[in-house]
Amino acid sequence: MSASDQSSESSAVAAGWRPETRLVHAGTLRSQFGETSEAMFLTQGFAYGSAEECEERFVGPGGGFLYSRFSNPTVAMFEQRMAAFEGAEAARATASGMAAVTAALVGPVRAGDHVVASKALFGSCRWVIEDYLPRFGVASTLVDSLDLDQWRAAVRPNTKLLFLESPTNPTLEVIDIAAVAEIAHQAGAVLVVDNVFATALWQSPLALGADCVVYSATKHIDGQGRCMGGILLASEQFIQDHVHMLLRQTGPCLSPFNAWVMLKGLETLSLRIERQTATAAAVADALAGHPKIARLVYPGRADHPQAEVVKKQMRGGSTLVAFDIAGGKAASFRFMNALKLATITNNLGDSKTLVTHPAITTHQRLTAAQREELGIGDGLIRLSAGLEHQDDVIADLLGALKAV
Ligand SMILES: *Cc1c(COP(=O)(O)O)cnc(C)c1O
Repeated sequence: MSASDQSSESSAVAAGWRPETRLVHAGTLRSQFGETSEAMFLTQGFAYGSAEECEERFVGPGGGFLYSRFSNPTVAMFEQRMAAFEGAEAARATASGMAAVTAALVGPVRAGDHVVASKALFGSCRWVIEDYLPRFGVASTLVDSLDLDQWRAAVRPNTKLLFLESPTNPTLEVIDIAAVAEIAHQAGAVLVVDNVFATALWQSPLALGADCVVYSATKHIDGQGRCMGGILLASEQFIQDHVHMLLRQTGPCLSPFNAWVMLKGLETLSLRIERQTATAAAVADALAGHPKIARLVYPGRADHPQAEVVKKQMRGGSTLVAFDIAGGKAASFRFMNALKLATITNNLGDSKTLVTHPAITTHQRLTAAQREELGIGDGLIRLSAGLEHQDDVIADLLGALKAV
């Protein structure tokens, strides 16, 4: 049976399942051995029984696997499972989150086109838009993500793409995705949303009007800090028009091993995200109002600046909390150095609780003025809640605050 036959069968069945069930079963392709756990197909190529079968595989309507740069059974299972979970027609897995973001940004544009993006972006995404696209004649405008008038004013007749992430990194502002999608569509442009911080469990950008959603699977999808990966989800039309050939011919393909890790990660995704979100919410409640915390932002709290938008477009808060330690860089360093459980790193979405100092890591490339504009102060900490007992995490944070 060809890959396309098999996946269309399983997606029809999966459509009747609830999200948690899709995360465990959707997209499974069983080999002739009938294994219960998904097989890892570590192969570059595929053998054909005859010259006729070979020709049919390449030019016939049935499709099928040809070469693992194009597609691979384990990678296809990951793509199908994510598509079923997200409610997307099609998905393409990539070697990293940045490979997915780059394909989604480069694929729809040509020299002479224009892109509008939020200023508050993951550092590498901002580099692709500000520094890389202009080399090929694609201009860009960066806007204050919360100001819809700025999005409207930035659109030009040659604008082809709008890009945002919400909640934003690292300050967890929440952008009205449906409103930006409407601005994009009125301009005849597409909207691409980086949904890493919300996860597919808590937010569905395609249902809110986005044309393409991208993930760093490195984060919550793996969820245990092991493999790099990414995935891009959209309509079949968007994939065919904008990224199918780009991904096939330029080769940022996901390794079958990493795809297998991601696939198994999806089986526990809902449990992990629910637990980590509950911990993040408890951390936010424990730290809010603490005398050594100057400001705290958590999308699940009533005091979040965009609480109304959160209520409208998210089903849950976030596994991340952002807070400013009063006293700036020196105080925040004392805080980080006094932590005994939480790990100092620049990553997120791990089973271990992680703390990041954005000004010296993920956003160090920006100027001090650019950081200030984004609300990234020298005392800002971004916490990614892990799977430890929440009381241990909170005790660690409160203990470290005593050292400040
Ligand atoms: C990590 C991350 C990326 C990039 O993903 P990689 O897997 O590191 O390439 C893009 N966007 C956001 C919001 C991220 O957190």
